[in-house]
Amino acid sequence: MADTNNILEDGLSAADMMDKGHGLTYNDFIILPGFINFAADTVDLSSQLTKKIVLKTPLISSPMDTVTEAPMAISMALCGGIGIIHHNCLPEYQANEVLKVKKYKHGFIHDPVVLCPTNTVADVLKVKKEHGFCGIPITEDGNLGGRLVGIVTSRDIDFLEDGNMNAKLESIMTKFENLVTAQSGVTLAEANYILEKSKKGKLPIINAQGNLIALMARTDLKKAKSYPTASKDDNKQLIVGAAMGTREEDKDRLRHLVNAGVDVIVLDSSQGNSVYQIEMIKHIKKSYPNLQVIAGNVVTVKQAKNLIDAGADGLRVGMGSGSICITQEVMAVGRPQATAVYRVSHYAKKFNVPVIADGGIQSIGHIIKALSLGASTVMMGSLLAGTSEAPGEYYFSDGVRLKKYRGMGSIEAMDRKDAMGSAMNRYFHSEADKLKVAQGVSGSIVDKGSVLRFVPYLQCGIRHGCQDIGATSLAILRNMMYDGELRFELRSHSAQLEGNVHSLFSYEKRLF
Ligand code: IMP
Repeated sequence: MADTNNILEDGLSAADMMDKGHGLTYNDFIILPGFINFAADTVDLSSQLTKKIVLKTPLISSPMDTVTEAPMAISMALCGGIGIIHHNCLPEYQANEVLKVKKYKHGFIHDPVVLCPTNTVADVLKVKKEHGFCGIPITEDGNLGGRLVGIVTSRDIDFLEDGNMNAKLESIMTKFENLVTAQSGVTLAEANYILEKSKKGKLPIINAQGNLIALMARTDLKKAKSYPTASKDDNKQLIVGAAMGTREEDKDRLRHLVNAGVDVIVLDSSQGNSVYQIEMIKHIKKSYPNLQVIAGNVVTVKQAKNLIDAGADGLRVGMGSGSICITQEVMAVGRPQATAVYRVSHYAKKFNVPVIADGGIQSIGHIIKALSLGASTVMMGSLLAGTSEAPGEYYFSDGVRLKKYRGMGSIEAMDRKDAMGSAMNRYFHSEADKLKVAQGVSGSIVDKGSVLRFVPYLQCGIRHGCQDIGATSLAILRNMMYDGELRFELRSHSAQLEGNVHSLFSYEKRLF
């Protein structure tokens, strides 16, 4: 326990800082440094996602249709975090994304580009231009799941004359009888061995009927790292979450998600303190007692109390802090995020209910601040949008490579045709709400490369922040905050300016 009479004591405890009256954002305060007697890479980042699920990395990708589908959820889980699949789509589509994560096997390409024997060399070159590779399995019908009849690789087309562009692939491909293949069920190590021995670039994986079910590439194997901190269930499958609403028809969606093997459900409402959410928590707990449920969003203690009493296994905290959010402007309700995280975490801790700090995370510093105020994990939208795993294609604007990022309460997201009004349901509870009032905007985010590179950068930064603070784990960081050892200071406007780059004519900000 910190001694407040001690003249060495400096700064404010979290409780004192939060009692100053104003709602605080992450930028309004700074954490004072502590004592370092350990290496940064020894900091333990494991943290509770829910009462029963522990993550090795406290990072979550948000259930937004420009952030999390299967590729994002797979990469987040490989890095020790988790992805929550959005529900702005049909239940069958969402459940299939969940299934892709649960069925994921590292190193296998489960959705390879496939062509058929009557496709031409020109089609192969088109694939090469779009995807950067031209090792393509050929099936009878040109689809994954069709009977494998051959493979085309760069060696088959490299020396063809221009006049051969219309040549059919059946005339140039390596035919099935000369192929090296592996049977479904082959392990990564076995497939690796076959590729090495055969010196082939591609290894098609087929089932007993000879149908193509996956592909392995030598180049991927060379890159393939192991992910020792991946988030996995007892069957060694990656874990994944899915968002859903609180309407009666969402019970059907829930059934699809459970059948696909979802590990955790996130009830997705901008204001979660409602009779609808309380009833849905009770329904889930009664129907699927082992399924973890994260409720929210909430920002006050009274909101949190109702959801905890109903049986929530975790709480999602944030209202109006998201980068694409206009809720506070339009609805006049919400709360500055740092205060919301502190107040709700402080209350939820008594019931061992972990808190997700959701929205407004712009940097590693914000992640550390959220965790230092009691959150167990953080959820990110904009920070992960623009990565290669985020849904959507890249496009160029003024020479900059961008991806779309939009709020789920933007008119564009609420109007999505195949979504059955799921995004609408996040913001409006009744069918009577026919006129849409946007609570979010649509925008774009600069290309950030792969999550598999970006998340390790975040992890490394969090560890260094903890080292500066003197906390060897996130649990210790939270304890230091609650017993007053962790000291904070409010930042004036000029202190915030001083804490950013200044006085330069120009500079380049490369983060890693
Ligand atoms: P970001 O990380 O600051 O971009 O915030 C992402 C979070 O904003 C999400 O996890 C949601 O909680 C929230 N959010 C998503 N769409 C909207 C919206 O349209 N309006 C308000 N908040 C939103």
